[in-house]
Amino acid sequence: AKQSGRNRLAEFVPEMTAATQRRAALERELRRAIGAGQLAVHYQPQFDCASEALVGVEALLRWRHPEHGPISPAEFIPIAEESGLIVQLGAWVLQRACAEVAGWERAGGPALTLAVNMSARQLREPGFIEDVMRALAGSGLPPGRLELELTESLLMEDVEGAVAFMQAVRATGVRLAIDDFGTGYSSLAYLQTFPINQLKVDRSFVQLLPERGETIIHAVLALARGFGLTVVAEGVEEPAQLEWLRRAGCDVVQGYLLGKPMAPEDFAERFLTVRTP
Ligand code: C2E
Ligand code: CA
Ligand code: CA
Ligand code: CA
Repeated sequence: AKQSGRNRLAEFVPEMTAATQRRAALERELRRAIGAGQLAVHYQPQFDCASEALVGVEALLRWRHPEHGPISPAEFIPIAEESGLIVQLGAWVLQRACAEVAGWERAGGPALTLAVNMSARQLREPGFIEDVMRALAGSGLPPGRLELELTESLLMEDVEGAVAFMQAVRATGVRLAIDDFGTGYSSLAYLQTFPINQLKVDRSFVQLLPERGETIIHAVLALARGFGLTVVAEGVEEPAQLEWLRRAGCDVVQGYLLGKPMAPEDFAERFLTVRTP
């Protein structure tokens, strides 16, 4: 046993080193990526479930690495969080997305809600709310059209701090949503406490529809109604899932069936009638 244990360790160490090296390299390169124009915000459309009207977008950060090509946010966001770079990246996403969404409206497009993902590290940064207000003021996007997406785990790290922070955000008119709802702990207890506007039902439940998952989503919809919250179902891929959600009275839907995340120019071309000067 000792022998095989040593063999396993010997095999494991070089791999770990390669992963650690890639991580360190990506962190270095990510630091330069903003200035080098390698980052972009892509937009995934969100639709009113009943009327099928386009009502909003979720901003999703994209990084095109000069050698490795597109790198998944699932890989680089954790690196950005651990290194603290997320503060700078997050501010860039917020500023860029507010400007792009406000620009579409000025060009004659519909008034859309903009949802932006937040990391814990960003919220703890002093001056965060001022940054948000600056992005809004600079772009002309009204506060009520910006929605910050927070995860359950982020909120549970420090409940009292989170409540105070959320109240300060809500006082500005900016909206709050719980992302990946149902995948964390204490989902029910905090609905009493946290001043939120919306729940996003996690894709893992939506993808069970229509054969399974009904009980959970019915419960989420009833809960949301009780607390006066709206519900977004994410990860809708099948027409049968959309149909089920419509009948169940879900408010908003998002997913590959209705539209993948798109570069701003592709989004504008597909969804907006943009007046050219
Ligand atoms: P998320 O916030 O849960 O975002 C939804 C993810 O699901 C996105 O992946 C989106 O492309 C994908 N998706 C949307 N519809 C479907 C569908 O119908 N089927 C499937 N299979 N997937 C779908 P993406 O863009 O790779 O982002 C992954 C995660 O990275 C996000 O998960 C979010 O947690 C994080 N992230 C992305 N952009 C940012 C950002 O600007 N800031 C922060 N803090 N995190 C971000
Ligand atoms: Ca999200
Ligand atoms: Ca999500
Ligand atoms: Ca997620």
